[in-house]
Formats: sequence, C-alpha cells, structure tokens
Amino acid sequence: MKVLSVRGPAMLMGLALALAAGCTSSSDAVSHSNAQSGAPSPTIPVVASTNVYGDIVQQIGGGKVTVVSIISDPAQDPHSYEASTQNRLELSKAKVVVENGGGYDDFVGRMLHSAKNAAPSVIDAVKVSGKAPRAGGEVNEHVWYDLPAMGKLADRVADALAKASPADADVFRHNAKTFKDRLTALEREERQVKAEHAGAAVAVTEPVPLYMTEAMGLRNKTPADFSQAVEEGDDVSTRSLQRTLSLFTHEQVKALIYNKQTSGPPTEKVKAAAEDSGIPVVPVTETLPQGEDYLSWMVANIGAIKSALER
Ligand SMILES: [Zn+2]
Repeated sequence: MKVLSVRGPAMLMGLALALAAGCTSSSDAVSHSNAQSGAPSPTIPVVASTNVYGDIVQQIGGGKVTVVSIISDPAQDPHSYEASTQNRLELSKAKVVVENGGGYDDFVGRMLHSAKNAAPSVIDAVKVSGKAPRAGGEVNEHVWYDLPAMGKLADRVADALAKASPADADVFRHNAKTFKDRLTALEREERQVKAEHAGAAVAVTEPVPLYMTEAMGLRNKTPADFSQAVEEGDDVSTRSLQRTLSLFTHEQVKALIYNKQTSGPPTEKVKAAAEDSGIPVVPVTETLPQGEDYLSWMVANIGAIKSALER
C-alpha cells in the first residue's frame, strides 16, 4: 500500500495493463486496450451468425476486430431465427462474415445479398469443414462440435482478417496457431475417452453433439427420425417417441445428451424417462453459454460426457 501511494498513478496504470493483458480472450480486455492506446486504430468489422463463431473470431482477431454475433441468446433456437433490420445494417458494414452454412443460418446469405455488400470475405463453416451428407440424409450442420473443423476454420478466419488488415497478418496467424494448439490438446482428451469407452451407447435429442460423440467412439442409438424431427421443429411420431423412450426403460444407453436450446414436449418426455431410469442427462447447447469461451465450453462438454459415462 505504501509503495502505491509513493509511486501512484504509474504503478496503478501498470497494474491495470497487466490485468488487461491477463485476460486476452474477453471482449472487456479488448475495449480497455483500445481506450488506453490514445488514438484508436480502426478495427475490422466482423459479423458472425452465432456467438460460437463470434468468439473464435475474437480469439484470433484480439483487439484488431469488432465482432457482432447475431445470435447469442441461449433461450433462442438458431434453427428458427428471424433476422432483423439491425442485423442487415451490421452485415452491410462487415468486412468479414462467418456463417455456419448447411442450411443452419440461411438468413445471413439472404441479408448479405439484399444489403448489397460486395466487400466481405464470407466464411462458411460447413464448407470449410468438408463434411459430407449423412447416408440418405443431409450434412449434420453442427460442425462446431467437430474440433478439427474448427482448426480449419481458425486458419480461414486468420486469412480473411489478414486480407482486411495485411499489417496485422502475423498477429492473426500467431493467434490462430495458439487456438489450434489448444484444440489439439482437446482432441487428445476425446481420444482418451475413446480409449476407455469406445462402443458405449448414448442417445441424443438432436444431432448437435454427434461429431464429438463420434470422435469419442460412442454409438448413437437414437432413432434418426426422432432427432431429425426435433431438429427441424417437426412433429415427432408416436412410434418414434416410443422407440426413443424404450432406450431408457430398457437401459440400452449410458447417457442422454440433451439439447437445452431446442426442447419441447417430446424431448422433455425423453429427459424425464432418462432421469426416471437413473441414466445421466448431459445438457448441451447450440450457442456459447454466458461466461464461457469456445475452448472452455468444449472442455466442459468433453468433461460432462466423460463423467456421465463413468457413472
Ligand atoms: Zn441444432
């Protein structure tokens, strides 16, 4: 305390800078550093369809980007989102746009077209992932649960930001590498789960976590027509619901992975059946929960599935 009173403002400033530097991924830290630099250099305007991609862009762009995420409300189902005129305005100014693609967020393409913004680099995560459609069906568009796909996306984001601000190219590529190194560590954790639990059966209410459960070698026993109907907001047939419920009453699965963000009466019945049979329920979401970044969120998802399998 004595030292602080003697050295005063310079010391406090140093402390504040050190604190700001300690949390580089938070948007707070970014705005602090901009405010402290005196003459703020213009940042690259970026629009992401959800806060999952918004966070990844923020990690790679740091203080050099201003990111708007169109969908970040955990109570909102991105599959049925209605875009607003505010979204159109933001898209009209963006230099880089990240969309999921695969039919998930078609409103982005429609609004970009009507906003007549010819400038931006548009990154489509499903295309970048290279994922093919499931046999007899569509591509599982929840590619952000696929860690290698997000590694490829990080490189594409770094390229697009470098195109918008060539002087910062090295910073973006460095940040993308840091991000990918952490993804690699998480992929090792997935393989660890696989080593211990490959072949274990699980059920899901929606295809949202399937890239992750596949990486863990788990078998999805959910009737496809059940999870597809839930995903598309269609009615679930009585037969399909009964077959799904019997997975729990007959204890054919080790866990239910439950999408909190697209729930309704059929998925709530399924959740109740799992709970009644003492089968662990692992909640997952479509968008980034508050207080998490992409990597901490995926750490939590892997950990939750692992501990459910170990129960
Ligand atoms: Zn979904």
